[in-house]
Amino acid sequence: MDQQTTRNSEPWHSMAMEACCAEMAAGLEGLSSDEASARLQSHGPNVVQADKPPSVIGRFFRQFNNVLLYVLMVAAVLTALLDHWLDTAVIIAAVLVNAIVGFVQEGRAEEAIRAIRKMLSTRVHVLRNGMRVELDARELVPGDVVILQAGDRVPADARIFDARRVEVDQSVLTGESVPVIKQDGVLAEDVDMPDRGNMVYAGTLMTRGWTHALVTATGAATELGLISGALRTIESLSTPLLDKISLFARRMSLLILVVSGAVALFGAYVHGYDLGGMVIAAVSIAVAAIPEGLPPVITITLAIGVRKMARRNAIVRRLPAVETLGEVDVICTDKTGTLTANEMTVRVVVTAAGQHDVSGVGYGAAGEVSDGADARAMELVKELATAGVCCNEARLDGDGDERGVFGDPMEAALLVLAQKAGIDGDSVTTLLPRIDMIPFESEQRFMATLHRSQGGGGILYVKGAPETVFALCSSELSLDGSKPLNVEQWQTTTSNLARSGHRVLALARCELAEAPPGVEGLEWRGRLELLGVTGVIDPPRAEVAGALSSCREAGIAVKMITGDHGETAAAIGRDLKLADGLEVVSGDDLDAMSPAARDEAALDRHIFARTSPMHKLMLVESLQKQGHIVAMTGDGVNDAPALKRANVGVAMGHKGTQAARDASDMVLADDNFATIVGAVQAGRIIYDNIRKSVIFLLPTSVAEALVIAIALIFGLQLPMTPAQILWINMITAVTLGVALAFEPGGPHVMQRPPAVSQEPLMSPLVMWRTGFVSLLMFAGIVGVFTLVSQTHPIEYARTACVNTLVLFEVVYLISARHLERSSLSLAGLRGNPVLFGVIGVVVLFQLLFTFTAPFQFLFESAALEAQTWLLIGAAGFGVFAIVELEKALRRWSAARA
Ligand code: ATP
Repeated sequence: MDQQTTRNSEPWHSMAMEACCAEMAAGLEGLSSDEASARLQSHGPNVVQADKPPSVIGRFFRQFNNVLLYVLMVAAVLTALLDHWLDTAVIIAAVLVNAIVGFVQEGRAEEAIRAIRKMLSTRVHVLRNGMRVELDARELVPGDVVILQAGDRVPADARIFDARRVEVDQSVLTGESVPVIKQDGVLAEDVDMPDRGNMVYAGTLMTRGWTHALVTATGAATELGLISGALRTIESLSTPLLDKISLFARRMSLLILVVSGAVALFGAYVHGYDLGGMVIAAVSIAVAAIPEGLPPVITITLAIGVRKMARRNAIVRRLPAVETLGEVDVICTDKTGTLTANEMTVRVVVTAAGQHDVSGVGYGAAGEVSDGADARAMELVKELATAGVCCNEARLDGDGDERGVFGDPMEAALLVLAQKAGIDGDSVTTLLPRIDMIPFESEQRFMATLHRSQGGGGILYVKGAPETVFALCSSELSLDGSKPLNVEQWQTTTSNLARSGHRVLALARCELAEAPPGVEGLEWRGRLELLGVTGVIDPPRAEVAGALSSCREAGIAVKMITGDHGETAAAIGRDLKLADGLEVVSGDDLDAMSPAARDEAALDRHIFARTSPMHKLMLVESLQKQGHIVAMTGDGVNDAPALKRANVGVAMGHKGTQAARDASDMVLADDNFATIVGAVQAGRIIYDNIRKSVIFLLPTSVAEALVIAIALIFGLQLPMTPAQILWINMITAVTLGVALAFEPGGPHVMQRPPAVSQEPLMSPLVMWRTGFVSLLMFAGIVGVFTLVSQTHPIEYARTACVNTLVLFEVVYLISARHLERSSLSLAGLRGNPVLFGVIGVVVLFQLLFTFTAPFQFLFESAALEAQTWLLIGAAGFGVFAIVELEKALRRWSAARA
């Protein structure tokens, strides 16, 4: 069912275009802005409620569905059965705190991700007040005329007109992934939705061609809106590392349950202790050994990291990409707009009459075309510039130097050239109205437009990559009229321009005695007359050279894969010091190679020119086969397979198509190569920080469990109660652990090979450090407990133990910030903006815990004397010193090895 069934008249697809316009109260030249805003008021924004946030209550209860909380809830029931009401209350409070923390964190993380998604709003080209403008797709209204081209996601249901070779992938709606052809025309009323060849539907993808379309339904009224329930895709906040950690936590919880049960039975049957006491003991071990703080700390770390990346223009679409980014060891990048600024200026024009330099930089009109050797040479330049204006989809907004560019920057540069050559673009387009066009596609590397010329004739203009255009020409325009094409000479000219870093474009035309209705069936290939070539400069982006050198340090290879000419690519590569060897491999070379030679080239070469999207896929596959983790950039509709295949597909936010964005893991809001490198660095930092959190949190749990288990086995008093352990694990550890999410990472992150990031989470160093620190903490607590309990009551000794363990956490937090580096220096202490803040908060918590009556009641704690504080301080300092000593020994032995 679509919107037309709700109207009294015929469906859109079976009406003539004029009738559609009349029904819509709209014209083919689009709506006025006033009318559009009135319609936006009545129809509402063009959005399909695809991801309705889950209900708040549902989300809260979902927090309880987790093994850890099951264990705690069972513990609460057991303690209640044994009349240990205080423990029960604290455990229930812990369960609630955990659920609330999880709830708030998850909410904030989801909100952050949603906000990031919003940054990726779809832009559409619309006719408003008769002018082509770019809008957010949400502002579309019925009656709008949109311009769609290959790579666009169709923003609303619409009836197409003026369509050129349109093909649409309708799989979102129909499941059929073979693109369907769409064309103008009127269809029978009973044609089903998938077969309506003159309609395009919201959410489908333009895979080819170019068309105008009259919007017939927006938002919830579209076909997609009607079935959107089926499309709800809420991406879970998970990554492979998170999955690994939660599996690890689940297994550990099970093991802990078995061990604590065994210890309790051992106590009851071997020592003959009372079973009730043993159950409490088992609960204590379970509560102690489970690192309750781990999941919230990791979620916070990821959410903070992803937000930081978004602020730096790298918008992560799929969370797992964050981890993979840290492991990337090859970046395959486009040239135009990514390594270069995509600010194009025509600097040289060559016609059959010779070369002309063009002055002025950027899109301002200031500058001129130098005179040629012959006074008539300028006429040839004007013919070429006219072709550049006609075969053009771009527009310049305003006057002056800071003009806005709308459309392809290279085409905009041709408009500027025309102005400098004294041609009035508006009168040219009025004199030569366009009849038809073949849009630019990177596989064919040219674009053509057909125009009606005065006197009833027609003229076809073609512009594109020189080799392609030369092959379509038979003659060239010279001062003496048309003469046979001298291909060798033009190839030399092209090569010289390319070698000096120019992007070269050839322009040609074909004059026709009569204006045909369209290019279809027109015999023009091989009959063009070459008008000349232009040399365009697109300067490298300023930040790129620095980013490339940091890639080198970080052991990341960078490969330029461009559609441009080999020599232009090599010149830019040289400018940027891309790599040592700059031999260029062309797309044709790749096609001709054996698979083995191709693998070798993929690995050893750094510049691939005149490639098509298929070659990108080929290169990714070859690199992956050889064990590399590849990030690949792309912008066109046909780049989607390579983007999907790459370990991290990176789409361009500005010049990229929606199709490329949809296929990518990450979108660059600024299209800038340096942003990818920044994101790799951020990915490495996030991975490091998660690892630091694990290293930080595990020893506390292990030490607590050891203390309790040993006490039980040897029939001693418990140095901490379950409630106290929960306090440490859930309040102090989580508060402190959050600081690790803010670890800045520092320059060394990009000074090590990617292999370090590929290490397993529980690397030998991590296991050793965890074991070593756990034992240290264990020894410290046993020491303090033994000393203090000799002279003080049990509550007092336990309070001392809790404070000792929290101090151990604090000093170990400072240590854990650097796995190998010393934390003893001033530099080792600086750099984390929240470190001392969270330590301050924990100190405050401990003062409350130790000295205030409500906490003393809840946790059975007692106020401590100065002497005891001194003892605790000494123990804390001791642990810190020993861990730092261990690090120093490690560094020393590494230096000697
Ligand atoms: P990259 O792949 O690094 O972005 P690119 O922009 O040169 O580089 P393509 O867009 O595939 O790659 O373009 C390939 C070639 O096609 C260009 O070198 C140019 O000669 C030609 N070309 C590019 N844009 C147009 C256009 N709008 N009209 C006609 N020809 C074009």
